Amino acid sequence: MFNKILIANRGEISLRVLRACRELGIRTVAVHSTADADAMHVRLADESVCIGPPASRDSYLNVPAILTAAMITGADAIHPGYGFLSENASFAEAVEAHGLTFIGPSPEHIRMMGDKITAKTAMASLGVPLVPGSDGALADIDAARVVAERVGYPVLIKAAAGGGGRGMKVAQTADELEEAWRVARTEAKAAFGNDEVYLEKYLDKPRHIELQILADTHGGVVHFGERDCSLQRRHQKLLEEAGSPALTPAQREEIGEIATAALRKLGYRNAGTLEFLYQDGQFCFIEMNTRLQVEHPVTEMVCDVDLVREQIRIAAGQALGYGQSDIRFEGHAIECRINAEDPETFMPTPGQISVFHPPGGLGVRIDSAIYTGYRVPPYYDSMIAKLIVHAPTREAAIARMQRALDEFVIEGVKTVIPLHRKILADAQFRSGDYTIHWLEKFVAEQN
Ligand code: ADP
Repeated sequence: MFNKILIANRGEISLRVLRACRELGIRTVAVHSTADADAMHVRLADESVCIGPPASRDSYLNVPAILTAAMITGADAIHPGYGFLSENASFAEAVEAHGLTFIGPSPEHIRMMGDKITAKTAMASLGVPLVPGSDGALADIDAARVVAERVGYPVLIKAAAGGGGRGMKVAQTADELEEAWRVARTEAKAAFGNDEVYLEKYLDKPRHIELQILADTHGGVVHFGERDCSLQRRHQKLLEEAGSPALTPAQREEIGEIATAALRKLGYRNAGTLEFLYQDGQFCFIEMNTRLQVEHPVTEMVCDVDLVREQIRIAAGQALGYGQSDIRFEGHAIECRINAEDPETFMPTPGQISVFHPPGGLGVRIDSAIYTGYRVPPYYDSMIAKLIVHAPTREAAIARMQRALDEFVIEGVKTVIPLHRKILADAQFRSGDYTIHWLEKFVAEQN
């Protein structure tokens, strides 16, 4: 087992990783920008190193500074969390070149899945069903037209290097195709330095359902069921559930078998998530994330597993020690992402937290790094807390989330808590019958 792990991240996820390390008896090194000198992850870590000024590119994305911090503190492994360098294959390579362990998949698999076109090609060859669309990158607008006619409008032009919902444009009809093509490419070039795009049929009423996988280095591959992340605004998730209100245990088992078989063939290791759109009883793969995800706690609650602990054990070469039949799904879990944003305009609201009083009680979990007096910096992601509840049924989980949201006090900055309250009270949400388009409409109706 490792002696010391450097956590190359900030905020709630660096605390999350730190907690797993503590319980495993592993020492921790926090890294931080000058803007985060007072952050909770810095206070709780055994050691900390300042790695640069506030801007992410100069600190949390500063590979030489992070590697130097690992060397001078004598860390033997690096956990990247999510975001920042977590899906950067060159970073994983550099970590290994310095004789350290990267807690995650091989650089080769990170690279393969980081490009959505190579990811789809690989998954198709492994027997995973895809969204109908182009066979790889589109050479030109004429090629796009041919594919669009074949799969039928509406269609979506997507960036091969896309992420965070950027570089994605819908064309409802043939007239809109050229514009969508141009805008998606321009956006992709600006955001990712790569204007390669592909085309998918735009599904009109899918759910976003993703599968959590763990793979060890001894051939053990298991899944921990699905998360339903259909509640999204601008392709960004806001509330997640495990399990999905739309799936039966048999459907879970079926897609779980396809996904685990694929990753076994691939020789994948550590944690990974296969994202699917699910419509009319069909799963269509859209992308794979080769890292821990923001919404991993809902899986932890229903499966009673510590996914970060498992990631660390796998990276240290340990076998999972259990098989698929040992994994049980108990009850229902819901996560609300608490963003420091105006609940109507979604403008970020950085500033000082004057009062922070988190909810508690049976089945309530808070993953957050904020505290009373903490100043939310303007430089980073606006998510300041995750509120997770677990209960025997979906109905009970909704009731528990409602009472936890009522107890939650955050003053000094606006948050999206009022929006979550409205969602949880809505009849359609409560029925479980919603798609990826539901939240946008709901928000528009509120304002
Ligand atoms: P990103 O990596 O930018 O998050 P994804 O490919 O994961 O992009 O897609 C993000 C979201 O966009 C999905 O969860 C879904 O809501 C929507 N989306 C993606 N592909 C399609 C599609 N073919 N049809 C309809 N919606 C889609």
